[in-house]
Amino acid sequence: MIKPEPLHKVSVVIPVYNEQESLPELIRRTTAACETLGKEYEILLVDDGSSDESASMLSEAAQVPGSRVVAVLLNRNYGQHNAIMAGFSHVTGDLIVTLDADLQNPPEEIPRLVAKAEEGFDVVGTVRQNRQDTWFRKRASRLINRLIQSTTGKAMGDYGCMLRAYRRPIIDAMLNCHERSTFIPILANTFARKATEIPVHHAEREFGDSKYSFMRLINLMYDLVTCLTTTPLRMLSVFGSIIAVLGFTLSVLLVVLRLTFGPQWAAEGVFMLFAVLFMFIGAQFVGMGLLGEYIGRIYTDVRARPRYFIQRVVSRDSVSPSEENHQ
Ligand code: UDP
Ligand code: MG
Repeated sequence: MIKPEPLHKVSVVIPVYNEQESLPELIRRTTAACETLGKEYEILLVDDGSSDESASMLSEAAQVPGSRVVAVLLNRNYGQHNAIMAGFSHVTGDLIVTLDADLQNPPEEIPRLVAKAEEGFDVVGTVRQNRQDTWFRKRASRLINRLIQSTTGKAMGDYGCMLRAYRRPIIDAMLNCHERSTFIPILANTFARKATEIPVHHAEREFGDSKYSFMRLINLMYDLVTCLTTTPLRMLSVFGSIIAVLGFTLSVLLVVLRLTFGPQWAAEGVFMLFAVLFMFIGAQFVGMGLLGEYIGRIYTDVRARPRYFIQRVVSRDSVSPSEENHQ
């Protein structure tokens, strides 16, 4: 059993996009929750190009003397996951908790996440109990969750919930991934050694509407699939080969039947044309599949994810990083 690294400081990262109504309450409740931790903490609020008062409210909150709030302001809207990544690049803690700004994830759950991480988990996920969203949103999420489970094989119940905790090395590894579209919970899981999930409460959105329109959800789904795997491209090869074999068999069958029953049966050559067509379609699919394979490889190389991720090196005279700092 490896002894878990102790946690000294907690960083909370919250993406904010036009959430001026919930900000005061969010900051108050998050601060109160972090105070109960008995550890150092910071609250990083990333303004994702809001068009309301959010940005100025954040910078005001950060300038209050003794404030633990850090405001990171982006010039325009980059999307929730990019905003969180921007926050990650400025954290100083050794456990990072992410959270939504709309108070759907109660900040009061933070101490439970921290306690779980202290047991030695690299990633602590959450499952929303009695989820307060529209029927359509729940359906969409369930479909997405099932898709991820079948491709990663990692049994995580709820990927959509952003109330999560990550240890620092996981954050560093994620920052080393240079692809432009990311889905943080999945990326984190690919680097986690030990991951777990705890049930959390979920509240209804009190102010404003969900910032995800239908098109944005579709976009997110594509980010998620491409972040995860190039299997869809490979499916093209598999599918193409099946079509090619079927097309070839069918055309051979047509030729044989034509020879047996004569030109009358084959509608004076029309069926023969079809036979040729089927073969060409099959060949085309095989070609596309081949292209897909190359594109998949190019994609993997272009995003240049770290080839491996060393979490820790243990040797006889190794010292833990915290001790090292004191020498
Ligand atoms: N968000 C963001 N940029 C965006 C969209 C959303 O930073 O482009 C933030 C938003 O302020 C909130 C979180 O991401 O803190 C989740 O958004 P929302 O509550 O609208 O999503 P839902 O709960 O419907 O999944
Ligand atoms: Mg929400």
